[in-house]
Amino acid sequence: SSKQELDILAAYEWLTKLYHHLIRFTKDGKEGYQYLRDRGISDEAIDTFQLGFAPNVRDFTVQFLKKKGFNEALLVNAGLVSLQNDNSVIDRFRGRVIFPIRNHIGKPIAFGGRSIAGGEPKYLNSAESELFQKGKLLYNFDLAKKHIRKQNEVVLFEGYMDVISSYQAGVLNGVATLGTSLTESQAKLLKRYVDTVIVCYDGDRAGVEATYKAANILRKAGCQVKVANLENGLDPDTYIQTYGGEAFKNEVIKASNTYLSFYMRYMRKDFNLSLESDRLAYLDIILNELAKLESVVEREYYVREISKEHNLSVESLSSEIESIRDKQG
Ligand code: ATP
Ligand code: MN
Ligand code: MN
Ligand code: MN
Repeated sequence: SSKQELDILAAYEWLTKLYHHLIRFTKDGKEGYQYLRDRGISDEAIDTFQLGFAPNVRDFTVQFLKKKGFNEALLVNAGLVSLQNDNSVIDRFRGRVIFPIRNHIGKPIAFGGRSIAGGEPKYLNSAESELFQKGKLLYNFDLAKKHIRKQNEVVLFEGYMDVISSYQAGVLNGVATLGTSLTESQAKLLKRYVDTVIVCYDGDRAGVEATYKAANILRKAGCQVKVANLENGLDPDTYIQTYGGEAFKNEVIKASNTYLSFYMRYMRKDFNLSLESDRLAYLDIILNELAKLESVVEREYYVREISKEHNLSVESLSSEIESIRDKQG
Protein backbone atom coordinates (compact mmCIF):
# COMPACT_ATOMS: atom_id res chain seq x y z
CA SER A 1 0.00 0.00 0.00
CA SER A 2 0.99 3.62 -0.48
CA LYS A 3 2.57 5.76 2.21
CA GLN A 4 -0.72 7.65 2.49
CA GLU A 5 -2.67 4.44 3.14
CA LEU A 6 -0.26 3.38 5.83
CA ASP A 7 -0.59 6.79 7.47
CA ILE A 8 -4.37 6.57 7.37
CA LEU A 9 -4.25 3.11 8.97
CA ALA A 10 -2.00 4.52 11.67
CA ALA A 11 -4.39 7.42 12.30
CA TYR A 12 -7.34 5.03 12.68
CA GLU A 13 -5.35 2.86 15.02
CA TRP A 14 -4.41 5.80 17.25
CA LEU A 15 -7.96 7.10 17.31
CA THR A 16 -9.53 3.73 17.99
CA LYS A 17 -7.31 3.41 21.04
CA LEU A 18 -7.91 6.98 22.16
CA TYR A 19 -11.71 6.91 21.82
CA HIS A 20 -11.84 3.53 23.50
CA HIS A 21 -9.74 4.74 26.38
CA LEU A 22 -11.96 7.80 26.77
CA ILE A 23 -15.18 5.80 26.88
CA ARG A 24 -13.88 3.25 29.33
CA PHE A 25 -11.90 5.34 31.77
CA THR A 26 -12.53 9.08 31.51
CA LYS A 27 -15.05 11.82 32.12
CA ASP A 28 -14.72 12.93 28.49
CA GLY A 29 -16.25 9.63 27.41
CA LYS A 30 -18.89 9.37 30.11
CA GLU A 31 -21.88 10.29 27.93
CA GLY A 32 -20.95 7.62 25.44
CA TYR A 33 -20.35 5.05 28.15
CA GLN A 34 -23.70 5.77 29.77
CA TYR A 35 -25.39 5.51 26.38
CA LEU A 36 -23.97 2.04 25.73
CA ARG A 37 -24.65 0.82 29.26
CA ASP A 38 -28.24 2.02 28.97
CA ARG A 39 -28.48 -0.08 25.84
CA GLY A 40 -27.30 -3.12 27.76
CA ILE A 41 -23.77 -3.29 26.37
CA SER A 42 -21.21 -4.75 28.81
CA ASP A 43 -17.65 -3.57 29.45
CA GLU A 44 -16.48 -6.84 27.97
CA ALA A 45 -18.32 -6.16 24.70
CA ILE A 46 -17.11 -2.55 24.66
CA ASP A 47 -13.57 -3.94 24.86
CA THR A 48 -14.08 -6.72 22.34
CA PHE A 49 -15.51 -4.36 19.73
CA GLN A 50 -13.17 -1.51 20.76
CA LEU A 51 -16.13 0.82 21.04
CA GLY A 52 -15.33 4.41 21.85
CA PHE A 53 -16.51 7.97 22.19
CA ALA A 54 -15.42 11.08 20.32
CA PRO A 55 -15.88 14.14 22.54
CA ASN A 56 -18.13 16.90 21.32
CA VAL A 57 -15.27 19.34 20.76
CA ARG A 58 -14.71 20.65 17.25
CA ASP A 59 -10.95 20.13 17.07
CA PHE A 60 -10.28 17.44 19.65
CA THR A 61 -9.26 14.82 17.10
CA VAL A 62 -7.35 17.23 14.89
CA GLN A 63 -5.29 18.49 17.80
CA PHE A 64 -4.56 14.98 19.05
CA LEU A 65 -3.44 13.69 15.66
CA LYS A 66 -1.43 16.82 14.81
CA LYS A 67 0.55 16.24 17.98
CA LYS A 68 1.22 12.72 16.72
CA GLY A 69 2.65 14.20 13.54
CA PHE A 70 -0.25 13.75 11.11
CA ASN A 71 -1.08 16.63 8.80
CA GLU A 72 -4.52 18.07 8.24
CA ALA A 73 -4.72 17.13 4.57
CA LEU A 74 -4.25 13.47 5.44
CA LEU A 75 -7.01 13.60 8.05
CA VAL A 76 -9.36 15.12 5.50
CA ASN A 77 -8.49 12.32 3.07
CA ALA A 78 -8.98 9.74 5.80
CA GLY A 79 -12.53 11.04 6.27
CA LEU A 80 -11.87 11.82 9.93
CA VAL A 81 -12.31 15.57 9.74
CA SER A 82 -14.39 17.77 7.46
CA LEU A 83 -13.22 20.86 5.69
CA GLN A 84 -15.35 23.93 6.49
CA ASN A 85 -16.13 26.79 4.10
CA ASP A 86 -13.53 28.99 5.77
CA ASN A 87 -10.92 26.22 5.23
CA SER A 88 -10.81 25.29 8.89
CA VAL A 89 -11.40 21.67 9.79
CA ILE A 90 -13.88 20.12 12.20
CA ASP A 91 -14.03 16.64 13.73
CA ARG A 92 -16.46 14.54 11.74
CA PHE A 93 -17.45 12.17 14.53
CA ARG A 94 -17.63 14.64 17.43
CA GLY A 95 -20.17 13.73 20.06
CA ARG A 96 -20.71 10.24 18.68
CA VAL A 97 -20.26 6.71 19.94
CA ILE A 98 -17.63 5.13 17.73
CA PHE A 99 -17.90 1.68 16.18
CA PRO A 100 -14.50 0.93 14.62
CA ILE A 101 -14.97 -0.91 11.35
CA ARG A 102 -12.20 -3.48 11.11
CA ASN A 103 -10.96 -5.03 7.92
CA HIS A 104 -10.80 -8.80 7.65
CA ILE A 105 -7.47 -8.99 9.42
CA GLY A 106 -8.73 -6.91 12.32
CA LYS A 107 -7.32 -3.46 11.55
CA PRO A 108 -9.67 -0.49 11.96
CA ILE A 109 -10.05 1.22 8.59
CA ALA A 110 -13.18 3.30 9.12
CA PHE A 111 -15.64 4.39 11.79
CA GLY A 112 -19.35 4.22 12.18
CA GLY A 113 -20.44 6.95 14.58
CA ARG A 114 -23.83 6.95 16.29
CA SER A 115 -25.41 10.11 17.61
CA ILE A 116 -26.48 9.75 21.22
CA ALA A 117 -28.93 12.61 21.70
CA GLY A 118 -31.18 12.15 18.70
CA GLY A 119 -28.97 14.12 16.32
CA GLU A 120 -29.25 13.45 12.59
CA PRO A 121 -28.05 11.48 10.83
CA LYS A 122 -28.33 8.64 13.33
CA TYR A 123 -25.23 6.96 11.92
CA LEU A 124 -22.36 8.60 10.14
CA ASN A 125 -19.72 6.47 8.43
CA SER A 126 -16.27 7.34 7.14
CA ALA A 127 -16.40 8.17 3.46
CA GLU A 128 -15.46 5.38 1.08
CA SER A 129 -11.93 5.26 -0.24
CA GLU A 130 -9.43 2.84 -1.77
CA LEU A 131 -8.93 1.54 1.75
CA PHE A 132 -12.59 1.40 2.82
CA GLN A 133 -15.05 -0.12 0.40
CA LYS A 134 -18.33 -0.90 2.10
CA GLY A 135 -19.44 -3.35 -0.53
CA LYS A 136 -16.43 -5.58 -0.03
CA LEU A 137 -16.39 -5.63 3.73
CA LEU A 138 -18.54 -7.21 6.42
CA TYR A 139 -18.61 -5.81 9.93
CA ASN A 140 -17.09 -8.23 12.47
CA PHE A 141 -15.93 -10.74 9.88
CA ASP A 142 -12.47 -10.87 11.44
CA LEU A 143 -13.75 -12.00 14.85
CA ALA A 144 -16.62 -14.13 13.56
CA LYS A 145 -14.53 -16.05 11.02
CA LYS A 146 -13.42 -18.94 13.21
CA HIS A 147 -16.95 -19.44 14.55
CA ILE A 148 -18.37 -19.24 11.06
CA ARG A 149 -15.99 -22.00 9.96
CA LYS A 150 -16.66 -24.17 12.97
CA GLN A 151 -20.45 -23.91 12.70
CA ASN A 152 -20.51 -23.89 8.90
CA GLU A 153 -23.07 -21.14 9.30
CA VAL A 154 -23.09 -17.37 9.43
CA VAL A 155 -25.76 -14.97 10.67
CA LEU A 156 -26.17 -11.85 8.59
CA PHE A 157 -27.46 -8.69 10.31
CA GLU A 158 -28.28 -5.14 9.27
CA GLY A 159 -26.55 -3.21 12.02
CA TYR A 160 -23.56 -2.96 14.34
CA MET A 161 -25.79 -3.08 17.41
CA ASP A 162 -27.40 -6.30 16.20
CA VAL A 163 -23.98 -7.94 15.89
CA ILE A 164 -22.93 -6.77 19.34
CA SER A 165 -26.16 -7.69 21.13
CA SER A 166 -26.11 -11.11 19.50
CA TYR A 167 -22.51 -11.55 20.52
CA GLN A 168 -23.58 -10.90 24.12
CA ALA A 169 -26.30 -13.50 23.68
CA GLY A 170 -23.66 -16.04 22.62
CA VAL A 171 -24.16 -15.83 18.85
CA LEU A 172 -20.55 -15.39 17.80
CA ASN A 173 -20.86 -16.04 14.07
CA GLY A 174 -22.64 -12.79 13.25
CA VAL A 175 -21.63 -10.18 10.69
CA ALA A 176 -23.35 -7.13 9.24
CA THR A 177 -23.41 -5.10 6.07
CA LEU A 178 -22.46 -1.48 6.54
CA GLY A 179 -25.68 0.37 5.84
CA THR A 180 -25.90 -0.77 2.21
CA SER A 181 -27.59 -3.72 0.55
CA LEU A 182 -25.67 -6.97 0.40
CA THR A 183 -23.36 -7.12 -2.61
CA GLU A 184 -22.34 -10.01 -4.83
CA SER A 185 -18.80 -9.65 -3.54
CA GLN A 186 -19.92 -10.06 0.08
CA ALA A 187 -22.02 -13.09 -0.87
CA LYS A 188 -19.05 -14.71 -2.60
CA LEU A 189 -16.88 -14.06 0.41
CA LEU A 190 -19.38 -15.83 2.68
CA LYS A 191 -19.70 -18.74 0.25
CA ARG A 192 -15.97 -19.39 0.63
CA TYR A 193 -16.53 -20.11 4.33
CA VAL A 194 -20.01 -21.59 4.73
CA ASP A 195 -22.87 -23.46 3.15
CA THR A 196 -25.64 -21.77 5.12
CA VAL A 197 -26.38 -18.10 5.65
CA ILE A 198 -29.08 -17.14 8.14
CA VAL A 199 -30.47 -13.77 7.15
CA CYS A 200 -31.55 -11.96 10.30
CA TYR A 201 -32.63 -8.51 9.18
CA ASP A 202 -34.99 -6.13 10.93
CA GLY A 203 -38.61 -7.26 11.17
CA ASP A 204 -39.96 -4.12 9.52
CA ARG A 205 -41.10 -3.70 5.92
CA ALA A 206 -37.72 -2.47 4.76
CA GLY A 207 -36.07 -5.43 6.45
CA VAL A 208 -38.34 -7.93 4.72
CA GLU A 209 -37.71 -6.36 1.30
CA ALA A 210 -33.97 -6.33 1.99
CA THR A 211 -34.15 -9.98 3.06
CA TYR A 212 -35.70 -10.94 -0.26
CA LYS A 213 -32.98 -9.13 -2.18
CA ALA A 214 -30.13 -10.45 -0.05
CA ALA A 215 -31.49 -14.01 -0.24
CA ASN A 216 -31.44 -13.92 -4.01
CA ILE A 217 -27.89 -12.63 -4.15
CA LEU A 218 -26.81 -15.32 -1.68
CA ARG A 219 -28.56 -18.08 -3.60
CA LYS A 220 -26.94 -16.95 -6.81
CA ALA A 221 -23.58 -17.23 -5.06
CA GLY A 222 -24.47 -20.83 -4.14
CA CYS A 223 -25.37 -20.38 -0.47
CA GLN A 224 -28.21 -22.15 1.31
CA VAL A 225 -30.39 -19.43 2.75
CA LYS A 226 -32.38 -19.52 5.93
CA VAL A 227 -34.45 -16.63 7.20
CA ALA A 228 -34.88 -15.70 10.83
CA ASN A 229 -38.29 -14.50 11.82
CA LEU A 230 -38.63 -11.28 13.76
CA GLU A 231 -42.13 -10.23 14.56
CA ASN A 232 -43.74 -6.80 14.28
CA GLY A 233 -40.93 -4.48 13.50
CA LEU A 234 -38.38 -5.62 16.08
CA ASP A 235 -34.74 -5.75 15.12
CA PRO A 236 -32.42 -8.39 16.58
CA ASP A 237 -31.06 -5.97 19.17
CA THR A 238 -34.49 -4.85 20.39
CA TYR A 239 -35.67 -8.47 20.37
CA ILE A 240 -32.80 -9.43 22.66
CA GLN A 241 -33.42 -6.45 24.96
CA THR A 242 -37.10 -7.43 25.14
CA TYR A 243 -37.06 -11.24 25.33
CA GLY A 244 -33.48 -12.08 26.25
CA GLY A 245 -30.60 -13.87 24.61
CA GLU A 246 -31.87 -17.41 25.18
CA ALA A 247 -35.16 -16.67 23.44
CA PHE A 248 -33.22 -15.08 20.59
CA LYS A 249 -31.02 -18.14 20.12
CA ASN A 250 -33.83 -20.67 20.37
CA GLU A 251 -36.82 -18.92 18.87
CA VAL A 252 -35.15 -16.77 16.26
CA ILE A 253 -31.80 -18.24 15.20
CA LYS A 254 -32.44 -21.97 15.70
CA ALA A 255 -36.02 -21.63 14.52
CA SER A 256 -35.10 -19.82 11.31
CA ASN A 257 -37.09 -20.93 8.28
CA THR A 258 -36.03 -22.28 4.96
CA TYR A 259 -35.84 -19.82 2.14
CA LEU A 260 -38.88 -21.34 0.52
CA SER A 261 -41.17 -20.85 3.52
CA PHE A 262 -40.02 -17.26 3.62
CA TYR A 263 -40.65 -16.92 -0.09
CA MET A 264 -44.17 -18.33 0.20
CA ARG A 265 -45.02 -15.86 2.93
CA TYR A 266 -43.33 -13.02 1.11
CA MET A 267 -45.22 -13.62 -2.16
CA ARG A 268 -48.56 -14.05 -0.44
CA LYS A 269 -48.85 -10.36 0.29
CA ASP A 270 -49.41 -9.61 -3.42
CA PHE A 271 -52.42 -11.91 -3.69
CA ASN A 272 -55.90 -12.26 -2.31
CA LEU A 273 -55.97 -16.00 -1.83
CA SER A 274 -59.73 -16.17 -1.41
CA LEU A 275 -60.04 -15.34 -5.11
CA GLU A 276 -59.69 -18.39 -7.34
CA SER A 277 -57.71 -16.48 -10.00
CA ASP A 278 -55.28 -15.07 -7.44
CA ARG A 279 -54.86 -18.46 -5.85
CA LEU A 280 -53.90 -20.03 -9.17
CA ALA A 281 -51.46 -17.23 -9.99
CA TYR A 282 -49.91 -17.53 -6.55
CA LEU A 283 -49.58 -21.31 -6.79
CA ASP A 284 -48.03 -20.98 -10.22
CA ILE A 285 -45.27 -18.75 -8.83
CA ILE A 286 -44.66 -21.01 -5.84
CA LEU A 287 -44.61 -24.24 -7.85
CA ASN A 288 -42.15 -22.73 -10.30
CA GLU A 289 -39.83 -21.85 -7.42
CA LEU A 290 -40.34 -25.28 -5.87
CA ALA A 291 -39.48 -26.97 -9.14
CA LYS A 292 -36.00 -25.43 -8.96
CA LEU A 293 -35.17 -27.35 -5.77
CA GLU A 294 -32.79 -30.19 -6.54
CA SER A 295 -33.69 -32.34 -3.55
CA VAL A 296 -36.71 -34.63 -3.98
CA VAL A 297 -37.12 -34.82 -0.23
CA GLU A 298 -37.30 -31.05 0.02
CA ARG A 299 -39.77 -30.80 -2.84
CA GLU A 300 -42.01 -33.41 -1.23
CA TYR A 301 -41.92 -31.58 2.06
CA TYR A 302 -43.29 -28.40 0.51
CA VAL A 303 -45.74 -30.26 -1.67
CA ARG A 304 -47.29 -31.71 1.47
CA GLU A 305 -47.41 -28.24 3.09
CA ILE A 306 -49.08 -26.70 0.06
CA SER A 307 -51.43 -29.63 -0.30
CA LYS A 308 -52.66 -29.13 3.26
CA GLU A 309 -52.88 -25.39 3.07
CA HIS A 310 -54.68 -25.14 -0.27
CA ASN A 311 -56.56 -28.40 -0.11
CA LEU A 312 -55.02 -29.83 -3.27
CA SER A 313 -53.91 -33.41 -3.82
CA VAL A 314 -50.23 -34.27 -3.42
CA GLU A 315 -50.41 -36.17 -6.74
CA SER A 316 -51.66 -33.26 -8.80
CA LEU A 317 -49.10 -30.89 -7.27
CA SER A 318 -46.26 -33.36 -7.83
CA SER A 319 -47.18 -33.97 -11.45
CA GLU A 320 -47.46 -30.21 -12.05
CA ILE A 321 -43.96 -29.78 -10.62
CA GLU A 322 -42.60 -32.59 -12.79
CA SER A 323 -43.97 -30.95 -15.89
CA ILE A 324 -42.44 -27.58 -14.88
CA ARG A 325 -39.12 -29.35 -14.30
CA ASP A 326 -39.28 -30.90 -17.77
CA LYS A 327 -39.76 -27.46 -19.27
CA GLN A 328 -37.02 -25.93 -17.10
CA GLY A 329 -34.72 -28.62 -18.44
P1 ATP B 1 -29.80 1.54 16.42
O1 ATP B 1 -30.20 0.27 17.06
O2 ATP B 1 -28.54 2.11 16.98
O3 ATP B 1 -30.89 2.55 16.36
P2 ATP B 1 -29.87 0.13 13.93
O4 ATP B 1 -28.67 -0.68 13.55
O5 ATP B 1 -31.05 -0.61 14.41
O6 ATP B 1 -29.39 1.24 14.93
P3 ATP B 1 -31.04 0.73 11.41
O7 ATP B 1 -31.80 1.97 11.14
O8 ATP B 1 -31.77 -0.55 11.48
O9 ATP B 1 -30.25 1.04 12.72
O10 ATP B 1 -29.87 0.64 10.35
C1 ATP B 1 -29.05 -0.52 10.18
C2 ATP B 1 -27.63 -0.12 9.82
O11 ATP B 1 -27.65 0.75 8.70
C3 ATP B 1 -26.89 0.67 10.89
O12 ATP B 1 -26.24 -0.18 11.81
C4 ATP B 1 -25.90 1.45 10.09
O13 ATP B 1 -24.79 0.65 9.71
C5 ATP B 1 -26.67 1.77 8.86
N1 ATP B 1 -27.32 3.09 8.92
C6 ATP B 1 -28.49 3.40 9.52
N2 ATP B 1 -28.79 4.70 9.40
C7 ATP B 1 -27.77 5.23 8.68
C8 ATP B 1 -27.47 6.54 8.20
N3 ATP B 1 -28.28 7.58 8.45
N4 ATP B 1 -26.33 6.71 7.47
C9 ATP B 1 -25.51 5.66 7.21
N5 ATP B 1 -25.74 4.42 7.65
C10 ATP B 1 -26.83 4.19 8.36
MN1 MN C 1 -33.57 -1.17 9.73
MN1 MN D 1 -32.26 -1.89 13.11
MN1 MN E 1 -31.47 -1.26 16.38
